Amino acid sequence: MRGYGAVKSGVSGWIEKDKPIAGPLDAIIRPIAVAPCSSDTHTMHGGSGRNIGNLILGHESVGEVVETGSLVKKFKPGDKVVVPCVTPNWLEKGIQGNPYTAHDRTAMSSFKFLISKDGVFAEFFHVNHADANLVPLPSDISAEAALMTVDMMSTGLHGAELAGTQFGDTVVIIGIGPVGLMALAGTKLRGAGRIIAIGTRPNCVKVAKEYGATDIVNYKNGDIVEQVLDLTKGGADRVIIAGGNAKTLPQAVRMTKASGIVASVNYYDQEEVFEIPTTAWLLGMGNIDIRSGFCPGGALRIEKMLELIRYGRIDPTKIVSHRFDGFEKIEEAFLMMDQKPADLIKPAVFINW
Ligand code: NDP
Ligand code: ZN
Repeated sequence: MRGYGAVKSGVSGWIEKDKPIAGPLDAIIRPIAVAPCSSDTHTMHGGSGRNIGNLILGHESVGEVVETGSLVKKFKPGDKVVVPCVTPNWLEKGIQGNPYTAHDRTAMSSFKFLISKDGVFAEFFHVNHADANLVPLPSDISAEAALMTVDMMSTGLHGAELAGTQFGDTVVIIGIGPVGLMALAGTKLRGAGRIIAIGTRPNCVKVAKEYGATDIVNYKNGDIVEQVLDLTKGGADRVIIAGGNAKTLPQAVRMTKASGIVASVNYYDQEEVFEIPTTAWLLGMGNIDIRSGFCPGGALRIEKMLELIRYGRIDPTKIVSHRFDGFEKIEEAFLMMDQKPADLIKPAVFINW
């Protein structure tokens, strides 16, 4: 079969592979909609420190079941399904009693695509523990909206959950790409008062306002800490990081008030180091929590995201800025995600086999 991925570190292209095989609990899926993600491009560039090669990328998909293992009870060939990007092994002890489903055995080990196997930019891909991870595609929700739940909504809303926003809080969202925009939508839903969004791309700024941003800060117009402290006269209650680099975390801490929370769902390159001045963290005595997280996984999580769409709480299709038709277009969509043109928020590819 064919797939699109990292031929070697820093080089993407089409790859030939054997069709994956389903174990007793697994399913083989044919994608009908996929979306490239910043994490695919980071992986292709080797930012996770791994020596990548001959790896099919992609982890955001909606698809059709083509084969199921002998013990799979809830799904059969022909079923349309939403595929969480994080598919825990629910038999691992690490996940039992742990609210953070991303870490079934070790850190982020529930993220199987890209890490322990090929991804979804393929004619066929493998899903472990199908009964506990797959979700039937609801007939009243579009494949496009469902596609946005599997990582963007789940991750962005995790940022909002980690920040623990209370009614009336002032919340800063650093980064308003697709993840930050979903964090923003979730933050509004959690009852924030003022929401300060930081980013520059005009499309993202427009959608940020539609999701409820009350102020926009441009990080290219000077220090974001000064800009936020100026606007808030003393800092924010919560800061969510969904963009930037290792310098962003100290900035987030500096703009957070005593008793506040900094929640990061951002990815940091392995070469980076956080340098937080003790005064920024209020000499370690300011009750400023610094939290981080990875996209929660599994069927229940995605069902909850779908409920938010069904009842009109969040429309995640606002973040889809570019739509492509056909398997071959995965390449164009991926390269677009890598190069991030000014009008990009999120590309999606729809496949009619
Ligand atoms: P994007 O690149 O689309 O968006 C990044 C945002 O950060 C943009 O708004 C960008 O502004 C802004 N930004 C860039 N540099 C700075 C800076 N120095 N200071 C402040 N803001 C800045 O990324 P995504 O939305 O796709 O992803 C966001 C992050 O989330 C990535 O690191 C990604 O890897 C990570 N991620 C994490 C997951 C998890 O499970 N934890 C899952 C998926 C993604 P501008 O408008 O100028 O572009
Ligand atoms: Zn992703």
